[in-house]
Amino acid sequence: MPIVVKRKPLTFLEKLYIPEIVRGLTVTFRRMFFGETVTLEYPEQRPPIPAGYRGVPTLVRDPEGREKCVSCQLCEFVCPPKAIRITPGEIPADSDYAHVEKAPKEFDIDMLRCIYCGMCQEVCPEEAIWLQNQYSMSGYTRGEMVNNKAKLYELGGTLPDQHFKWNKKKEAAENGGGHH
Ligand code: SF4
Ligand code: SF4
Repeated sequence: MPIVVKRKPLTFLEKLYIPEIVRGLTVTFRRMFFGETVTLEYPEQRPPIPAGYRGVPTLVRDPEGREKCVSCQLCEFVCPPKAIRITPGEIPADSDYAHVEKAPKEFDIDMLRCIYCGMCQEVCPEEAIWLQNQYSMSGYTRGEMVNNKAKLYELGGTLPDQHFKWNKKKEAAENGGGHH
C-alpha cells in the first residue's frame, strides 16, 4: 500500500521565492567580494605540490650525472598494468665505469597504462625510478603518451644518491678487491 507523505503548504512569502533568492544572492556576493579565492587559473597558476606526491614516474641520475638504473628489470616485472618496457644494454668497455653494471638501452613507460601505484619506485634496488611532482601528461596520439628513456631522464633530473655504488665499486676495484 503506498505511503502518502503530507507536505506542509507554502506560505505566501515562500510562494514568491523572493526571500530565498535574496538569501542565496547574499551568500554569493559575500563570497565574491569578501571570501577567500579557492580556485586557480590553471594552467597559468599551479597548485603547490605536497612533499611525497606521487606523479609521473621518472628516471633519475646521480649527482655526477650518471645513470642509476642498472637494467635489472624488477620494475618491469612488478608493474601491475605492464606499463614498463626495458631493453637492457651494457656499459661500453671504454667507460670509466665499465666494471660496474648494465644500463638500459631503451626504457619506455606507457602513461596510458600507468596507474601511478609507485610499485616500480618501491622495488627499485638502485633508487633510480621516482614518482615525482609532474602530474600533467597529455598528447594527441598514443605514441606521445609513451615516455622514452630521454624523456624519462628529462623529467627525472638528478637526485641525491644514497647508494654510492659507483664510488664503492670503483674504490674496491682499484684496491684489488673489485667484484663484478
Ligand atoms: S607507477 Fe605503477 S603502474 Fe606506473 S609504471 Fe610504476 S609500477 Fe607501473
Ligand atoms: S629502474 Fe630500478 S628496478 Fe627498474 S630496471 Fe632500473 S634499476 Fe631495475
